[in-house]
Amino acid sequence: MSDYTTFSHGLYIGGKWRASSDGRVIEVVDPSTEAVIAAVPDATLADAGAAVDAAAAAASGWRETPPRRRSEILRRCFELMTEQAETLAALIALENGKALRDARGEVAYAAEFFRWNAEEAVRISGEFGLSPSGTNRIVVDYQPIGICVLITPWNFPAAMATRKIAPALAAGCTVILKPASETPLTAYALAALYEEAGVPPGVVNVITTSNPGTVTSAMLADARVRKLSFTGSTGVGRVLLAESAKHVISCSMELGGNAPFIVFDDADLEAALDGAMIAKMRNAGEACTAANRLYVQAGIHDAFAEGLRKRMAALKVGPGTESDTECGPMITRKAVDKIDRLVQDAFARGAKVLCGGAISEGRGYFYPPTVLCDVPADALMAHEEIFGPVAPISRFEGEAEVIAKANDTEYGLAAYIYTRDLAKGMRVASKIESGMIALNRGLMSDPAAPFGGVKQSGLGREGGQKHGIVEFMEAKYIAVTM
Ligand code: NAP
Repeated sequence: MSDYTTFSHGLYIGGKWRASSDGRVIEVVDPSTEAVIAAVPDATLADAGAAVDAAAAAASGWRETPPRRRSEILRRCFELMTEQAETLAALIALENGKALRDARGEVAYAAEFFRWNAEEAVRISGEFGLSPSGTNRIVVDYQPIGICVLITPWNFPAAMATRKIAPALAAGCTVILKPASETPLTAYALAALYEEAGVPPGVVNVITTSNPGTVTSAMLADARVRKLSFTGSTGVGRVLLAESAKHVISCSMELGGNAPFIVFDDADLEAALDGAMIAKMRNAGEACTAANRLYVQAGIHDAFAEGLRKRMAALKVGPGTESDTECGPMITRKAVDKIDRLVQDAFARGAKVLCGGAISEGRGYFYPPTVLCDVPADALMAHEEIFGPVAPISRFEGEAEVIAKANDTEYGLAAYIYTRDLAKGMRVASKIESGMIALNRGLMSDPAAPFGGVKQSGLGREGGQKHGIVEFMEAKYIAVTM
């Protein structure tokens, strides 16, 4: 692979690249320049049906492929992703806008899902036991759930796809991936890589469409489809849960977040600032795990706020593809407008700006790194995902108070705590309503750990020992008289 123009951009169905059945396309825009950089096919209902047909045709062959062989193919996907990391990172930086350093981090993270699931694929085991009545044995066999529809967002174009594809393939399922319309090029580049790694035709199919609702509904209505794994906003997740309910389809939902980032007086200030920069600024804030509310205890508040202002104001803003960029553009103009609306709302309610705070002039969807303090609890940004480079700081006095504030949200995906008192850290962690907690760390994502949320942040887990794979399997119980 040399540059993005050499990648295949057709629908990838049954191992073949093709145009959509009506010839329509979706334009892909570089968010740094607003220029159109490519066009991908806009799949019709007929194309979606062909993708399900292809996944169905490949299903029994893949299900019966020995786990060791599946594992070796997944391992090869990891190796190829690692070999082609620079090219893939450049493609992600181009279509998503994130800084190259973030794109490189994403490729490494995305590839790890193949390595981890290659290792897990050969360790899927069942259960065997005696019924309490003593009359029979209980045998539990884990079987692939069947054809899976996978839907992913634009903020991690590689990792959100591999986090689903790798465990699904390890489990023995065939899949249809529908990536986000803003970032389809990475998904197609990866499809070519899977083929090179030896994934048989039809095992992974990739389609892009500008009608995700209609196309997804049609696929879910096909009785051969047994699983929907979705990563995206809570609003769309709710719609898809309702749609899946009509057909009683198993759902995994990785949805939105509103992560609190709590700094106690006894925290290591420099470590907390380092962590805040990662938790807030990875992907320029466009992450579901991004620190969305920073609660800082009164005694350390001023030093933390000033430290964060200095670091945020020093960030180099620019196109993701430039090597020294630290904060790239947002994904769309709409995203910039939303961020600005939240910032203006916070001002109107009494927040103070320490740096940034206004839309950047010129072309490209840029928003400057922004730090706000004295952000009141009723500010919209305390309740909605900012999804941008804005760090809102609020002061707190006591432990019970900050736990109540942290939990005052419908979301429950990620939370961060900084304290030198490990007992306090664990106590607070146990009381925060969140699927994941980072204690004295700015990052928790790890293919070896279960990723997922509680409350409106989702259902199910991805990654981890068994958790991720079990989402793509059914437990079959066999009662045996011996
Ligand atoms: P989104 O608008 O919900 O879109 C996500 C995906 O769903 C895209 O592929 C989109 O396709 C598709 N989609 C939209 N409407 C649909 C419908 N009616 N039926 C079927 N598919 C539909 O989310 P986004 O703006 O791309 O991503 C940002 C959100 O994702 C944030 O809320 C973020 O927190 C969340 N997220 C969560 C996690 C997690 O692991 N919990 C990880 C990353 C992101 P189009 O692109 O064609 O519209």
